[in-house]
Amino acid sequence: MRSLVLFDIDGTLVRKAGPQHRQALEDAMRAVTGGEVSTQGIPVHGMLDPDIITLTLQAVGFEPGRIAELMPRIIESAQDVYDAIVPADLTDKQCPGVSDLLEHLRATDTALALVTGNLTRIGWRKLQRAGLDHYFLFGAFGEMAPTRGGLARLAIARARAGGLIDPDASIALIGDAPQDVIAANENGIRCIAVRTGITAPGDLEACNPFCVLDDLTGLDRSII
Ligand SMILES: [Mg+2]
Repeated sequence: MRSLVLFDIDGTLVRKAGPQHRQALEDAMRAVTGGEVSTQGIPVHGMLDPDIITLTLQAVGFEPGRIAELMPRIIESAQDVYDAIVPADLTDKQCPGVSDLLEHLRATDTALALVTGNLTRIGWRKLQRAGLDHYFLFGAFGEMAPTRGGLARLAIARARAGGLIDPDASIALIGDAPQDVIAANENGIRCIAVRTGITAPGDLEACNPFCVLDDLTGLDRSII
């Protein structure tokens, strides 16, 4: 394929998808630790799910070693909880211009993949309920690498190893948070930043993206 486009999920493909994701992480932490926890006050925007879990447990006194020990069970449990409580229909939560753009990219021989902090099954389920999962060949998800830059690296490597893109293919990452821009810059790929999330004005520009758009309806498709 002539190019690869990597998409973040929350604030980029879908927004205001409900409190179920946060609840799944909290319920899983409660179930596995037996204690009371809350993600209130924990920065979740642009974060990888395992980092949200780590910060939440640190805030109630867990040591790093113990958190690492509990993490696999919490990750499994959170995905099970989300599956059980996710809204049946999230199609009205698509960000503006998303389905038009994805249709266009699919029709123009572009490989599409996910780079997201969501845990694997949470990300796929959320996109399925939003009617968008079928556009994507694969994803790099929150538990697969320690940083978003690492996730982007994994996704690029997978596309290359699978022969999905030509060696000189153009690669872009579309996201709504400073962490998306940083991840793209770490990998030497272009970041198309969108203001459909909750990033404060100026914060995206400060990270030096290739461009910043109010939403994906305004994307000049010739740059992909
Ligand atoms: Mg996001």
